[in-house]
Amino acid sequence: MNSSEFRKSAHELVDWMADYMDNVSSYPVKPDIKPGDIKKLLPGNAPEKAENFDSIFSDFKSKIVPGMTHWQHSQFFAYFPTGASGPSVLADMLSSTMGAQCMIWLTSPAAEELEERMMEWLREMLGLPSDFTGVIQDSSSSSTLVSLLTSREVHSQYAVNQRGFDGTEKFRVYTSSQAHSSVDKAVKIAGLGIDNLVKIKVDENFQMDAHALEKAIEQDIAMELVPLCVISTIGTTSSTAVDPIRDIGEICKKYGCWHHIDASYSGAALLLPEMRWMSEGVEMADSFVFNPHKWMLTNFDCSAYFVKDKDALTKTFSILPEYLKTPEDNLVNNYRDWGIPLGRRFRALKLWFVIRSYGVEGLRQIIKEHIEISRWVKDQIENSDEFELLAPVPLNLICFRYRPKGLKDEDKLNQLNTQLLEGLNKTGEILLTQTKLNDKYTIRFVSGNNNTSLEEVKKGWNKIVSHAKSLKV
Ligand SMILES: *Cc1c(COP(=O)(O)O)cnc(C)c1O
Repeated sequence: MNSSEFRKSAHELVDWMADYMDNVSSYPVKPDIKPGDIKKLLPGNAPEKAENFDSIFSDFKSKIVPGMTHWQHSQFFAYFPTGASGPSVLADMLSSTMGAQCMIWLTSPAAEELEERMMEWLREMLGLPSDFTGVIQDSSSSSTLVSLLTSREVHSQYAVNQRGFDGTEKFRVYTSSQAHSSVDKAVKIAGLGIDNLVKIKVDENFQMDAHALEKAIEQDIAMELVPLCVISTIGTTSSTAVDPIRDIGEICKKYGCWHHIDASYSGAALLLPEMRWMSEGVEMADSFVFNPHKWMLTNFDCSAYFVKDKDALTKTFSILPEYLKTPEDNLVNNYRDWGIPLGRRFRALKLWFVIRSYGVEGLRQIIKEHIEISRWVKDQIENSDEFELLAPVPLNLICFRYRPKGLKDEDKLNQLNTQLLEGLNKTGEILLTQTKLNDKYTIRFVSGNNNTSLEEVKKGWNKIVSHAKSLKV
């Protein structure tokens, strides 16, 4: 493709993109297809001969788009939202155009220095301690793995990196029963063994019971096991529960444990000073992660990882083969040493575009609005005798179920709510997901994408109510 063909196609694509942003809510939010339906439309072999761009783009529109779930749809209330905003998409287009590789300073000096600056901006914006240093990772799952590996190396004085496990290590990792599955995954990958992940019970608000944590640590010590790391959560995936960060921090200090905070989704709400109660005690933590790619208008992927002891981080991951040595090694951050992959995308660019385009005030305003909008749903449920909240609502995620008057049987309620959720999702007009809280089938309703508005949320809620009433009890 030469540059004039590129120019012509790019204009066409950008027109399509702008139209998509305008019309995304006219698509079924989730496609009505079966596994294999899309693959069947695609030839079994790669084309031997070049195809023209128009036919590729036309297949994109006719075969791919109808098979997509539309995360920016105004009736998308599932999972956690993933941000996508104009400035963010445009920045990614530029970084793709340059084919930027940001593994060391020399391979993209401006990218490295912009990343340093963006991480300082974010640290300030979220009120994180000034002795934290940030780096962009691809995802929270990677950030949590990086944190766990660092804690392992600090504790073993870098011996596991050197000689592998010698069979005498008895490391234990603690997290709450509500923690994200990425914690389990990280424990497995780090070679610690899933049997050494201790799931601490939660209180009635689904927050880690700090007292139970301390007891578990003491029990382990009595059995000559080694408490390595506690992973706490600000905003659990099931219900945005907030663990007691300060209490956990103090326990970690007392027993010499690494403390990692997973604030993947809810971290963005720390933009609001009135939400900073969630991170009280964060200054005692060793590391912290949040995903601008969830609730901060930045399209996937962009995970902001902060660490207190940056030397421990780089000592864990640094590898310096001859072909990567540069004269500036001692003066700059070579981010290949701050995580798992060598090659890295230029993600700082989209943060720069997003933060400047909205301003911190603008971002704060959007998040505040999302929280206020969800209050409306919460009020509907609290004032209804047919629906009930199943968890506190600190942010914009509502956990609820339908409970018609007189229906008390838990199995029947679970069945009824499964039916409600599946029925709603089948319409293609709305998308919700579920979780289990205290064994109760729970419908999650979270509104926080680019097209969230009170009007759309009211529309969504009315669909839920009328569908519920149509079910036979
Ligand atoms: C979304 C989420 C994760 C996983 O994030 P990825 O960036 O997709 O790896 C981990 N923890 C919590 C609390 C989350 O909400």
